[in-house]
Amino acid sequence: MASQGSSSASPGDVYACEVIQDWDPRAINARLPGGLTPALKVQKGDNVWAFYINQGYGYIHLPTGDTHLRGWVPLNILKKGAIKVEEPPIQLPAEFRNFRSTASQPPQGTQTKSDASVLLKTLQTLWKKIKSEQFLIQGVVSGMNEQSHSIFFHRNAAQYGDVVYSCITKDARAIMDKGNFSIEQLKKLPPVSNTYPKQAGIYIIIYEDFGGSQSGNTTYTIAIYIGQTVQFQKRMEAHTRDAGTKNSVHYSLAKKAKKMVMIPILLQTATAVPPSFLDIAEFSMVCLFRSWFAALFQPRDPALLGSYSIDHEGCLVFSRLMRQVSSETGWNISRTYGLNWNTPILKHPKFDQPWVAWHEPELDVFKYRTRRTLWKNAGEVNVRWYAGEHIQIPLEVASDAGFVSGGQSVHLEVEVRKKGSEYLTHPFRFVRLPPQIGRNPELEKLKSLAVKIQWLPNGQTKWREYYVERSRLWQPISKTNDVLRIYRLGLMMLCDVEKISYTGAPAWIHTLSPTEIQFLRYDHLGQRRVVESVLPKVLPWPADNTMARNTERLNTMFPRQSFPNTIIGPKPPPGFFTNNRKACDMCLSQRTTTACKYDPADNSCQCCRPLNRPCTWSRAGQDVMDEFVHGKSLEELGIAVNLSRDVGSMIGPMAEPPFDPDIEGMEHGDQQG
Ligand SMILES: [Zn+2]
Ligand SMILES: [Zn+2]
Repeated sequence: MASQGSSSASPGDVYACEVIQDWDPRAINARLPGGLTPALKVQKGDNVWAFYINQGYGYIHLPTGDTHLRGWVPLNILKKGAIKVEEPPIQLPAEFRNFRSTASQPPQGTQTKSDASVLLKTLQTLWKKIKSEQFLIQGVVSGMNEQSHSIFFHRNAAQYGDVVYSCITKDARAIMDKGNFSIEQLKKLPPVSNTYPKQAGIYIIIYEDFGGSQSGNTTYTIAIYIGQTVQFQKRMEAHTRDAGTKNSVHYSLAKKAKKMVMIPILLQTATAVPPSFLDIAEFSMVCLFRSWFAALFQPRDPALLGSYSIDHEGCLVFSRLMRQVSSETGWNISRTYGLNWNTPILKHPKFDQPWVAWHEPELDVFKYRTRRTLWKNAGEVNVRWYAGEHIQIPLEVASDAGFVSGGQSVHLEVEVRKKGSEYLTHPFRFVRLPPQIGRNPELEKLKSLAVKIQWLPNGQTKWREYYVERSRLWQPISKTNDVLRIYRLGLMMLCDVEKISYTGAPAWIHTLSPTEIQFLRYDHLGQRRVVESVLPKVLPWPADNTMARNTERLNTMFPRQSFPNTIIGPKPPPGFFTNNRKACDMCLSQRTTTACKYDPADNSCQCCRPLNRPCTWSRAGQDVMDEFVHGKSLEELGIAVNLSRDVGSMIGPMAEPPFDPDIEGMEHGDQQG
């Protein structure tokens, strides 16, 4: 292949390749060496997989939809990339943005004596570096809230190291001071007992004899967890209880471990401590012991990253920062298997944490995922979108899911069905209006948009999900503006995830939310996914479709010859319907008792009019209602089935969890005792 010869390939390796020029074997009447068949036509830019090479040709697979074409192409039209990986790793900016060169750091002054405490120097350097790398850290931890920000970058943050050091217990300090020790040594320290300690503080739990945990090529026989508490005895009871009942990775390991010891390593003994001192101390210890959970270091699953981006980002940036600090100060402790999911201080992301987006080409869908808090207000349960905007969840769903008090966090996923730039119909769309013909070309895009919430019910292992749909479909924006409210809400969501705003738009369109969309771009040659921020786009707002224009479109879509049983516009004379039907298709398809207020003046009714559509009237041999559903001949003439009313339970179990259910059971910003 263009970049290198065949010798380095081990048999069985499949390479990601890109086609660098068009090649059509028939057009050029290509003759391949004997035995190489068939030849395969490819185009510049095709992403292919190369399996083997022979006499200057490569045998490749060219993916097409859910299958692929196979054949031989000349090697000189292929650019060779990395070996194929099943789940390409995701490369977050937190992983590769460079910290400033350490050469320019001021010398450590009084701390450079060789007998100085490496522990103290490490804590001081850690906090100084956080301050000096503020810009970078803020840039790569996109979901950081105001409170976390005020702790990390407090004007006195550079001094946190000293007070943390002074609170580490004397015995622990003796072991840790030189920066060169093993976790086992800490087991010599007094564990939590009925009488010790009395103060608040930070503990380390050391687990042993659990059968070992694999991470990379290493099997770890010791696992650690760092935590904070204001009451050690109560916290220990809680840990013991949770190990019996909870299924998270931490607690399943705790269940298996034959040895567990909980050791206080830092006590709040100093009187003058900064605000949020326990968070600061816990964070410092997680950094010192690098006790983040292994899965956080190498994100691979977009859904998991979408839900917990702040935890991945926090782990990546602070573990890297810590690596650099360690190399400067000589802090050197052996690696262990960590069980901390959250980065202390970062435990609670801001309420509009960014979205993670990715493309699933086999389904023609773009997915946008995040977590949001539920919020109960005046008998309604809402998902906060941005600022004052929210999406309502039916009370039945909320209570069925146990969201009765509000404040819970749910996983929110927006799906946009799209092929290239063409918006496709989503069967479970949020705006259940007819997919093709509507009030405005931009509003017609809403056919592609679906919104769902997902959650793991407390103490269970089966995820559930619910496609959000709006029940009050016909509510106008106001008494003086007949535009449907659902148009506004749907367009807000679509524009926010696609970062689209308009020139010349009507005043009812909301302003774009500043929440970041992190798109995972698939890098075929590199066999990885790279995070890119979706950039805003500005489009001109097109003119509304007129009633006349939409009548014409409907007539083209349902020509009289092929659809003798559908009439567009004027209400048919008595006799057309045999059942004395009064309602137009749109009204009928809703299965409600609300009467159709057809007006011969414009051949429209209260439901068709807001869409700038005339009424349509269809009859069928069998039940005409069956023809209005997704994929059927009259889909364009009715309202999509209301899932909640017509498909029974609104909440469905998920056949497959979005990610390892054990991870959802971790302590994600739970209240800790
Ligand atoms: Zn009607
Ligand atoms: Zn109508």
